[in-house]
Amino acid sequence: RIAYVNGRYVAHADAAVHIEDRGYQFADGVYEVCEVARGFIVDMPRHLARLNRSLTELSIAWPVTRGVLPLILREVVNRNHVANGLVYVQVTRGVAIRDFVFPSADTKSSLVVTARKADPAAGAKRAETGIAVITVPENRWDRVDIKSVGLLPNVLAKQKAKEAGAQEAWFVDGDGTVKEGGSSNAWIVTRDGVLVTRPAEHGILRGITRTTMFEVAASLGLKIEERGFSVAEAKAAREAFISSATTIAMPVVAIDGDPVANGHPGSVTLSLRQAFFDIAEKSPA
Ligand code: PLP
Repeated sequence: RIAYVNGRYVAHADAAVHIEDRGYQFADGVYEVCEVARGFIVDMPRHLARLNRSLTELSIAWPVTRGVLPLILREVVNRNHVANGLVYVQVTRGVAIRDFVFPSADTKSSLVVTARKADPAAGAKRAETGIAVITVPENRWDRVDIKSVGLLPNVLAKQKAKEAGAQEAWFVDGDGTVKEGGSSNAWIVTRDGVLVTRPAEHGILRGITRTTMFEVAASLGLKIEERGFSVAEAKAAREAFISSATTIAMPVVAIDGDPVANGHPGSVTLSLRQAFFDIAEKSPA
């Protein structure tokens, strides 16, 4: 495997950044994960636009000219012969002697890009049975709209899910509404067949898959309501699912050990999943 590290393509096994990198010292960095499907990088313009937003919010400089990054992503995907899998991009504030305040303006931000293959059949198989989620109290900072590499609450929540035999953890707000998963957005389908997902203006990451899902839903003639929903409403819903670049639409069949509807993947979720790549392939920036 080949990785890109600060201007060089190197063997993945030898790819390294300096111990004084601010990503390592302070989690002072941001990232993106794009799905690679049928050889194309899904929703790349949207991912790069969100990366730009994350960088801007944190006053981290672009590590390369913005127009060059798509070429690097493509190159890493090609060099690793990835037709189906993912490409990962991380930008940090760079290498500087450890000090909380920003380093001097001439410090170059760090850029790392990796890619790896994934078996598309594995996702399809998972979707046939669906996943279980647990709920955990929201304990993250209030800037989760920034895709920061500071993911310790997400790590702990997802580990707790794993130990409970589940595949995702949903953060629940003080008012009892579901925010999002540790690495995904949360959705339900009401008894009337309407999709419901929390507004992305505050308190969650605006998922790229979530955004594209609006187009997919429209193509299927499905309505979307952006509003909060409670855990109880999700359990009683016709369907529930998560969305992310790597899972697309993945049915949720159990929440905290209780079945969602009849405990089987729902047809709306599966049709969204089915239609997703056709729409994503055509979707504009
Ligand atoms: N919410 C969180 C906290 C995430 O980490 C992710 C993706 O990793 C998502 C939502 C889904 O975002 P996307 O669809 O862009 O992958």
